[in-house]
Amino acid sequence: MNLPFAESFKIKVVEPIKRSSRTERLEWIKKANYNLFNLKSEQVFIDLLTDSGTGAMSHFQWSEMMLGDESYAGATSYYKMKNAIKNILGYDYFLPTHQGRAAENVLFSVMVKEGNIVPGNSHFDTTKGHIEFRKAKALDCTIDEAFDTSSEHPFKGNIDLAKLEAVLKNNPHEKVPFVIVTVTCNSSGGQPVSIKNMREVNALAKKYNKPVVYDAARFAENAYFIKIREKGYQDKSIKEIVKEMFHYADAMTMSSKKDAIVNMGGFIAMNDEALFKQATVFNIMFEGYITYGGMSGRDMNALAQGLDEGTEFSTLETRIEQVAYLGKRLTDFGIPIQMPYGGHAIFVDAKRFLPNLPKEHYVAQTLAIELFIESGVRGVEIGTLLADRDPDTRENRYPELEFLRLAIPRRVYTNNHMDVVAVALKNVWDRREKITSGYKILYEASIMRHFTVELEKI
Ligand SMILES: *Cc1c(COP(=O)(O)O)cnc(C)c1O
Repeated sequence: MNLPFAESFKIKVVEPIKRSSRTERLEWIKKANYNLFNLKSEQVFIDLLTDSGTGAMSHFQWSEMMLGDESYAGATSYYKMKNAIKNILGYDYFLPTHQGRAAENVLFSVMVKEGNIVPGNSHFDTTKGHIEFRKAKALDCTIDEAFDTSSEHPFKGNIDLAKLEAVLKNNPHEKVPFVIVTVTCNSSGGQPVSIKNMREVNALAKKYNKPVVYDAARFAENAYFIKIREKGYQDKSIKEIVKEMFHYADAMTMSSKKDAIVNMGGFIAMNDEALFKQATVFNIMFEGYITYGGMSGRDMNALAQGLDEGTEFSTLETRIEQVAYLGKRLTDFGIPIQMPYGGHAIFVDAKRFLPNLPKEHYVAQTLAIELFIESGVRGVEIGTLLADRDPDTRENRYPELEFLRLAIPRRVYTNNHMDVVAVALKNVWDRREKITSGYKILYEASIMRHFTVELEKI
């Protein structure tokens, strides 16, 4: 008999979590204005809101925390991070930032101007936010297969080269500052980009003399999928694949709260010294001095260690197998989800789950609320609330797909927790016919409304 799969870690520290009653949850979610971000974490039994900054650090990372050098300038911690970025990703220059969106803010302050168009694969919300905040446009050039949840395309994060070339060809050169590739593509379901696509995007961008920027939050998960799914990469190590991936990008932004397995942190990295110098000005203004930029020394140490661990095959296998475990339990119940299973999360297809609910009722949000009421499991809406309004018309832009995302923190929950999530969702699935009305908005912010939106039951 083959030995069954098991996690590549054992647990040294535990944090108690509490179950609750349906009555309590009904009251809590109402008080939270039906916005799951407003819940207190202690009201949540299993928290799948995000895998961002919610991972468990290893004992190696915790040891590194004790070795942090908190010098304002030239700290050893800065050099540890610099070496890790050079050795693992291959970039000569980098700037630490407090998280991923800060990296976007700094880099886009240099690169994005009013009226620009930034083509890419389903831009992440903060990325799109930082582009639109500068009165520029984020243009989605993802392949069409990404929008069919039942398609088993192995690389649904891929950029459609014809769509990209149309943008590059039909716009004046100065209008398109760079091409952005999100690896893995969070918004389309944690779906990877193939190395072949990365190579081709780079070649196309070079043909039009454009830099390529990676939004690299989950680059290691992307490398894992390349190893598992792409011909010719089975025998390469994750670190070898990672090196090749970044060979096709001129610069990158990173939310280290994802694949570097730290609770806070980010960075920008690039090959071009001139770009580094320009970005440095904004980094000092918004984040901090060059050698700490919004991070403490101990956090830079943990990040450097996390980059190394996060690009180990066993770490990624444990993680992605757990995501697939939850995915398989849900598909066995007949629940419609984005296929194939993504890297960091399972994306439940809310429109197919609740076909009787009008889109004006916020379908994925309604499903997220129902799951919380059922079980105390917190997921998150990746749908109309997140897609927000058209910057020009201010009308809702209803996305093609409405997802309830169940993001799994790294090294935090066991598969018993996944069983609870699966059965809870199955219970909602069994009463889906009875869910015929959703929610309406009482309050929304002018940008990135999903974080603070207040809702009322229709
Ligand atoms: C999380 C994330 C970001 C933003 O990073 P923060 O650390 O949350 O600011 C940007 N892009 C992608 C793809 C992400 O997943």
